[in-house]
Amino acid sequence: MTDSAPLPDANWPVLQPGWVWLCGAGPGDPGLLTLHALNALRQADVIVYDALVEPAILDWAKPGAETIYAGKRGGKPSAKQRDISLRLVELAEAGKRVLRLKGGDPFVFGRGGEEAQTLVQHGVPIRIIPGISAGIGGLAYAGIPVTHRDVNQSVTFVTGHDQSGETPSSLDWAAISRGSQVIVIYMGIKHIARIAAALVDAGRALSEPVAIVTEATTPSQRVLETTLGTIEADIASSGIEPPAIICVGRSVLMRQVLDWQSLATGAAPRNTDPLGRGRPAESA
Ligand code: SAH
Repeated sequence: MTDSAPLPDANWPVLQPGWVWLCGAGPGDPGLLTLHALNALRQADVIVYDALVEPAILDWAKPGAETIYAGKRGGKPSAKQRDISLRLVELAEAGKRVLRLKGGDPFVFGRGGEEAQTLVQHGVPIRIIPGISAGIGGLAYAGIPVTHRDVNQSVTFVTGHDQSGETPSSLDWAAISRGSQVIVIYMGIKHIARIAAALVDAGRALSEPVAIVTEATTPSQRVLETTLGTIEADIASSGIEPPAIICVGRSVLMRQVLDWQSLATGAAPRNTDPLGRGRPAESA
């Protein structure tokens, strides 16, 4: 372990040669790494990382560690999932201490389960380190509570496209629309027109609030507030691009009071009671 910043005293797990630790790096802000992730970064000989891992996070690696890009975007050649998994097996079998670093949480729409399965099938010992998923932490950075007592008692996380790049045919948008007051969509920009139409067909109002958070928790974070009826036009005119988390539901209104990044610059809240419920302590 390097001495760059002390980890609180504890029996931190040791990354042994021949092991692969599959680890979430959180949505972007390096401060959202877990201590287990930091402990892993400081020990790994090789770090295989995705496009969505914020580059600054690799600065925590031990000196001389090899970093291998295995992303699927960013203008660089994309690696096939099977090749990535087998590369991890190879590195482990070569006796390296391997850290597989993925954006957000490795088991949330990140194919971490597939990689872990391949490793286990090849007899490679693994450890899983969860991370803060963009659909929770990214919304929090936008001032949107993913659950809020006055709005929702459940939340549904969905992916906007499947392996073929199409809207997932297995998703029953009508059921999701009826069953979940708040819907958080990963990878949703490409098919947003179709998704919004399906939700409206299923009975959601055209005026239903929607927030789109791009590059959440990074210095480039942008938040677009819109509605199901205007989302397609607003995305086109704003020029925003993936990666984006889309949140559909009235919890988006809470941003009017909880946009803490604007509050920190001295801005006044737009509305201190956007749901019209009075103060929480008074309505308990
Ligand atoms: N395992 C990741 C999700 C991987 S799927 C997690 O738990 O967060 C990739 C999608 O995640 C992106 O297309 C986008 O929808 C979302 N995403 C990841 N990081 C993001 C970020 N910093 N800002 C906005 N969306 C993000």
